[in-house]
Amino acid sequence: MPPKERKIAFMGFRSVGKSSLIIQYVENQFVDSYDPTIENTFSKHTRVGGQEYDLHVVDTAGQDEYSIIPQSYFININGYVLVYSVNSEKSFEVVKHVYDKIVDMKGKMTVPIVLVGNKKDLRFERVISVEDGRKLAESWKVPFLEASAKENSSVKEIFDTILNTMRQKENGDTGE
Ligand code: GDP
Ligand code: MG
Repeated sequence: MPPKERKIAFMGFRSVGKSSLIIQYVENQFVDSYDPTIENTFSKHTRVGGQEYDLHVVDTAGQDEYSIIPQSYFININGYVLVYSVNSEKSFEVVKHVYDKIVDMKGKMTVPIVLVGNKKDLRFERVISVEDGRKLAESWKVPFLEASAKENSSVKEIFDTILNTMRQKENGDTGE
């Protein structure tokens, strides 16, 4: 089978670790101070479940609760990773706003989404529980993961999960 070309976007409030997660996955390193304004697209060849992918990952600068999301984040994007950080109540609110915007544009049952709570290494700064994240993801009927870009924990799983979710949806399995 030839590799499938797929494009995903990372979205969420600024400073939640979107760039850090992507760079940890693509370059296997944790960069401590990556320019937060850069909007870059990273590429990686990967294989999940016997299928090869040419994966393109759009790193957005970040949204807030007032953001109007540009059209370019909806066109030719096959899936979304929505990120908050477990030490930020605000980022948890923003991710709900971003979800609503995506679903308005793409439709609830069709768009592949994975919810990620990043910075799980910050045990003493945590304000969003695992249960809070899980409940939100359940209400959206999407997969949920907690991760740490810093400790390279569950980072590869994020990408495997979004690719698997995309494949299920493409095969007409709504997960219902
Ligand atoms: P972005 O604005 O969402 O792209 O966030 P960045 O990836 O630029 O990260 C923002 C800040 O959080 C940086 O100082 C990162 O080093 C830090 N950071 C990112 N991921 C983690 C993580 O998993 N754990 C901890 N402790 N810090 C992180
Ligand atoms: Mg960034």
